Amino acid sequence: MPIAAIYGPDDFGKPVHGHSTPQARSRVSTAEHARALPMPSLEFTPEVERATAHLYERVRNVISPVEWPFMAPYIKAINELKKTRDAVILAHNYQTPEIFHCVADIRGDSLQLAVEATKVKSDIIVQCGVHFMAETSKILNPNKTVLIPDSRAGCSLASSITGADVRLLRERFPGVPVVAYVNTSADVKAEVDICCTSSNAVQVVESLNAPTVIFLPDQYLAKYVASQTTVKIIAWKGACEVHERFTGDELRAYREADPSVQIIAHPECPADVLAEADFTGSTAHMINWVRDKHPKRVVMITECSMADNVQAELPDVEMVRPCNLCPHMKRITLPKILDSLVYLREEVTIDPMIAEKARRSVERMINLKN
Ligand code: SF4
Repeated sequence: MPIAAIYGPDDFGKPVHGHSTPQARSRVSTAEHARALPMPSLEFTPEVERATAHLYERVRNVISPVEWPFMAPYIKAINELKKTRDAVILAHNYQTPEIFHCVADIRGDSLQLAVEATKVKSDIIVQCGVHFMAETSKILNPNKTVLIPDSRAGCSLASSITGADVRLLRERFPGVPVVAYVNTSADVKAEVDICCTSSNAVQVVESLNAPTVIFLPDQYLAKYVASQTTVKIIAWKGACEVHERFTGDELRAYREADPSVQIIAHPECPADVLAEADFTGSTAHMINWVRDKHPKRVVMITECSMADNVQAELPDVEMVRPCNLCPHMKRITLPKILDSLVYLREEVTIDPMIAEKARRSVERMINLKN
């Protein structure tokens, strides 16, 4: 059914949020200098080439031999520093192939990373993704050091809503349970009943056994969930700036050019895009779909780097790449990851009271899955 109502910050007499503007990246502080390890050599030597040859094999069909000498010294240095620091690197599916395939220890979508974050034994977690993901890792691992290589890596969905907005929604709809997509700040997670990801959103909504549910902040995912359930959905006006750019016309053009092409789309896309897709699913579900079906040609309607990562794994599947990049995900680079490990920066901190409340919402989701 269509969503029942949709709200945004302007509906509460407040200006639209302006906190998506990135803050300047902080300089290396005196404390960070004090605990720094020596910066490794970044020369591309025959030894570096030999030590990284097996990693180049993983990405050779998406990274050219011309690019590799610039990446390999960072990759070797990062992999060595991970051991020295007892650190683990978590990488989202939207990270670039040299990060995803060559330095990450744990890879996946938000749900997979959230679940794996609870099993991490290392003292330090380096989150290669955006800020809300690093916060989720910190929420689940309060006693570990969680680092993000660039704390300006935000998200248009996370910045569309605050904890205060959730409290206003609760005042307007007393007793209606609230589900938050994990693409929200700790402040928002602390105010809701349960979190969800695009992998489990319908399951989470139905688990509440309520006739009506407030679902935030992604209006398109809310519409998709509403189309899959009889629960009445009240939505928020947030959107992913990457998935919102796709159009139904664009998908029809791909199909006209090649009627045999398979099109798979992420549920953060608008409804007219999903109507044209052969399959709709989370990033993890999309990857599994390509592995299982092994189509000859496929268009992945999601962030562009994911197609590169799947292409590296499945070279015989032809990827048609509509290249919508997430500018926030792309703030994470090899030089910044190296900086993170050398200086132990930028550390993610959350008020313990907020973290405790947010943990309940995230764990309720994880326990539901298990
Ligand atoms: S792709 Fe969209 S939802 Fe994901 S981090 Fe970027 S802006 Fe946020």
